[in-house]
Amino acid sequence: TYVVTDQCTGCRYTECVTVCPVECFHLDDEMTYIDPENCIDCGGCVPACPVGAIQPAYLLPPEQQKWIEINRRRAAETPVITSRLAPLPGADQRKMALGR
Ligand code: SF4
Repeated sequence: TYVVTDQCTGCRYTECVTVCPVECFHLDDEMTYIDPENCIDCGGCVPACPVGAIQPAYLLPPEQQKWIEINRRRAAETPVITSRLAPLPGADQRKMALGR
């Protein structure tokens, strides 16, 4: 499966939701999450994310592996999002700070 990681926190650009063919994405006030039960591992959302927040679970370094469980739990607790929203305030500054 693919997971959204901490780089999405406070950015939440939501470009990912426009490319996902199976409506995997959920969201709260801070970021998006991928429902691992629905993800078909197409990888389409990876290049769509302006801050590189999405990675395949098997490539996550040890300190990032907590995001697998966070995505699973929060996707179950939050609504599906299927169309793009404006990014959160400050997203563009965060993106620049990441060198993107
Ligand atoms: Fe959706 Fe594909 Fe990303 Fe999975 S890898 S969340 S199916 S776009």
